[in-house]
Amino acid sequence: MKKQQEKYIEPSLSCARKRTKDEVEYSEFAFNPRVLGLGKGKTYLLKTFGCQANLSDSEKIRGILNHLGFKETVEEKEADLILLNTCAVRKTAEDRSFGEIGRIKSLKKTNHNLIIGMCGCMPQEEATINTLKEKHPEIDLVFGTHNINLLPEYLERILINKEKVIEVFSVEGNVIEGMPKVRDHKIKAWVDIMYGCDEFCTYCIVPYTRGKERSRKREDILNEIKVLVKEGYKEVTLLGQNVNAYSDGDFGFGDLLEAIARTNIPRIRFTTSHPRDLDLRTIEVMGKYPNIMPHLHLPVQSGSNDILKKMNRKYTREVYLEKVEKLRKSVPGISLTTDIIVAFPNETESDFLDTLSLVKEAGFEGAYTFIFSKREGTPAFKYESNVLPKEAKERLLKLNEEINQGFLKGNKRFEKEIVKVLVDGFSDKDESVLSGYTEHNKLVNFNGDKSLIGEIVDVKITKAYTWHLKGELQK
Ligand code: SF4
Repeated sequence: MKKQQEKYIEPSLSCARKRTKDEVEYSEFAFNPRVLGLGKGKTYLLKTFGCQANLSDSEKIRGILNHLGFKETVEEKEADLILLNTCAVRKTAEDRSFGEIGRIKSLKKTNHNLIIGMCGCMPQEEATINTLKEKHPEIDLVFGTHNINLLPEYLERILINKEKVIEVFSVEGNVIEGMPKVRDHKIKAWVDIMYGCDEFCTYCIVPYTRGKERSRKREDILNEIKVLVKEGYKEVTLLGQNVNAYSDGDFGFGDLLEAIARTNIPRIRFTTSHPRDLDLRTIEVMGKYPNIMPHLHLPVQSGSNDILKKMNRKYTREVYLEKVEKLRKSVPGISLTTDIIVAFPNETESDFLDTLSLVKEAGFEGAYTFIFSKREGTPAFKYESNVLPKEAKERLLKLNEEINQGFLKGNKRFEKEIVKVLVDGFSDKDESVLSGYTEHNKLVNFNGDKSLIGEIVDVKITKAYTWHLKGELQK
């Protein structure tokens, strides 16, 4: 490949922090006819790490690549383009992606034309670009979360002009409609309703990597969902870093949820919710429509008011628990899950006990639990901590014991009950067993014919385990 001549466009975390009152720009994606057919006869392999936002972005990347004529493969050795869509939320996720790059680049020894690319949240960090340039100069393509729409142009520059492209924008972000999508599933769909985050929790890199909060127009979201209904989709999950901050003028998240419920899509889920922004209107709408699923993932992060303040979460444990109570009144039997970080800098034993007591009080039926991980560029990166690694691990173990009890209790309540299951496919462990999720988001395995995949069926729960339920199909 010719030595790169022009300037790279590189990220800056300080620029990414800026928030102005400038209006969000809306635009429509279109292919330049010049690039059509660019991928003819070529294959690509796309690896996605991280959260649902990345899964949704990968569907757009696939849509673009397929439209350019590329064919997808799962074989690294066959691929002409290998692209990693990366996650920056935890250091371990970053290490994994760098490990992958280190391994994949050896394929260039036998396939000299292989294009290796990295996109997603990691390239939005200055440190990533420095590491890529120093340790992995073999990488050909780097772009971030704000310029997926420019992928056709980047590939043209690489394939035709023989350039290397590193282009990452640190901007507040805009909204680009109309990018083609190849969806992961035929019955469940991700639907972005907003992008970015303005919360700036002190431990979190997302507001820097994904830009300012910006909502899609309600009609674009509703049109997308109406098409999904026509295509026979059974479930949509509305996506945003903080869906409760959705706003199209004075049309808020509760209003949007109600409008979507009226499209008659059989199942609606949404993630992620911020406890401070979860309002009464939303809680009321959740209780009113049976197609809004009785499960909510509501990250609490800590049960200690001191720690919540240091995290800049902008609510107290009391406010959180009040909202839980309101949710339980509005949606009887709702299943609640959460995220919790232990060993945040200087978390005391008493702070940790506050978290354990909140877990009991809230009655969570599952949680993603983590030991605090420093992210360069965030305020908490500079916080000193007196929590020893051994203490951090012990706290995580204790917390997980509590969470697992809640998980089992939450599953046990369905024993002998008949539940509605949306059948996803076969169980991971046994190809003769079907598997799917209940309205409360519980995984169920049962015997049945493969023709049921994609259907919502009645299943009687015969046994509850910690991580899943076993049941019998009801005729
Ligand atoms: S709400 Fe907080 S934790 Fe969630 S994405 Fe925004 S900054 Fe990160």
